[in-house]
Amino acid sequence: MSGRDMAKPLLGHRSMEGDPSITPAAGRTIGVLGSGDFARSLAIRLVCSGFKVVVGSRNPKRKAGLFPSAAEVTFQAEAVKKTDVIFVAVFREHYSTLCDLADVLAGKILVDVSNNTEINHHKESNAEYLASLFPACTVVKGFNVISAWTLQSGARDGNKQVLICSNNQEAKRTVAEIAQVMGFTPVDMGCMSSACEIENIPLRLLPAWKIPIFLALGLFLCFFTYNLIRQVIHPYIREQKNKLYKIPIEVVNTTLPCVAYVMLSLVYLPGVLAACSQLYYGTKYRRFPDWLDQWLQHRKQIGLLSFFCAALHAVYSLCLPMRRSHRYQLIETAVKQAVEKKMNIWVEEEVWRMEIYISVGIIALGLLSLLAITSLPSIANSLNWREFSFIQSTLGFVALVVSTLHTLTYGWSRAFDENQYKFYLPPTYTLTLLVPCTVILAKVFFSLPCIQQRLLRIRRGWEKGRYVKFVLPSTTGEYSSGETSSNV
Ligand code: NAP
Repeated sequence: MSGRDMAKPLLGHRSMEGDPSITPAAGRTIGVLGSGDFARSLAIRLVCSGFKVVVGSRNPKRKAGLFPSAAEVTFQAEAVKKTDVIFVAVFREHYSTLCDLADVLAGKILVDVSNNTEINHHKESNAEYLASLFPACTVVKGFNVISAWTLQSGARDGNKQVLICSNNQEAKRTVAEIAQVMGFTPVDMGCMSSACEIENIPLRLLPAWKIPIFLALGLFLCFFTYNLIRQVIHPYIREQKNKLYKIPIEVVNTTLPCVAYVMLSLVYLPGVLAACSQLYYGTKYRRFPDWLDQWLQHRKQIGLLSFFCAALHAVYSLCLPMRRSHRYQLIETAVKQAVEKKMNIWVEEEVWRMEIYISVGIIALGLLSLLAITSLPSIANSLNWREFSFIQSTLGFVALVVSTLHTLTYGWSRAFDENQYKFYLPPTYTLTLLVPCTVILAKVFFSLPCIQQRLLRIRRGWEKGRYVKFVLPSTTGEYSSGETSSNV
């Protein structure tokens, strides 16, 4: 999968926006059954969009005051008689109470806006259930992914996509037209069998983020434990020093950059594995294993979590001098210096190391911010393919290299100092270098002209061992054709 895939909308269905078959619908009368939160917001939005609205309630007198004066609130049977398109803004459990209206509803379009409380709660979707109760009506599933709040704010804020499905093209087009006039983007999700999928969408909690979040938490836990052993448990066991105060800031702050750095390398590692697989099999048409496919699809989220950890690390680092423990240490050093009558403790090498370390860290964070911003769909959509791939692929790789420099300047020569090996455990930064350096070396290897050429050919459709037609100039200057194996 290419970096461009990360910018693709999550719903790969056809947007109906700009469909020439969709004509303006404002002025038409729309019915709404129910007088709850959704019905109210819907009525307000419809009135603001220029529609005439008639609301059907079991108790119109009591509910009329809740609706804009331009909307007519009447009994359910009265309301449905006045329109051909009716939004059913009642819960699935109450659909059967509408069966008395079956005769007046016959031949009309019913828009099912309902949601469930659990994923795949019922065997059949709510829309299919509604269609089974009213076989003489045409049911369209739609608007359920839009909240009452978004309806009121008029699609300026919140989700703009209205997912629509129905077995009747004409009815679907009518509802798409209404959605468009209301300022939403209708998305054709196909026939009624998609209703179940549409009803599950509002119930899913960050589906694309689950794996990346677990990955980040897992890495955080591993590095946190490792740092805890080195920074808190080791001094306690070896020197009976209580360093528990380091846990909230110091240990967390040494853990966060480790997670950020390794996560950033995990954005580019699947690309390397994919390239290795393509080189090995000599084709791009062989399917990647499922785990690699999943990994490739989650790169954007992994990258954003890497940026999140890096940003937290920056904030924690800025706060380090604010700590009381830091001030005590400073005073202690000054006192020691006075007692030992040392006038100058300036270490040139340390000064340079710190200057370079901070500067490179700032550049890395800046590059990560750029990657994060350009991964937002609204920004990604304004970039062409070359710009997007330059930022996400080339600058992303530069960010990884700069982060590696940041890590190396942090470590400096500590890897060679035996005092740094607490319980024989190497400094944490040496562990974090493992995956990023592998990725960087692999990328350098892929950039060798012979490898790069082969990869390019594979990605353009060339296959190892496949026989292709070729045309060669003969010694006489004429062209002769034949067949050969393309990998010869
Ligand atoms: P609600 O505030 O509880 O309103 C439900 C309405 O259903 C009632 O006001 C009632 O109006 C009507 N109703 C008709 N027959 C009924 C019966 N037998 N028993 C009880 N009420 C009956 O619910 P809501 O939040 O507006 O949600 C309505 C539908 O929209 C649901 O299917 C929900 O899943 C969907 N939805 C809601 C939101 C949201 O943000 N709220 C978002 C997406 C989808 P009358 O008393 O006037 O008849």
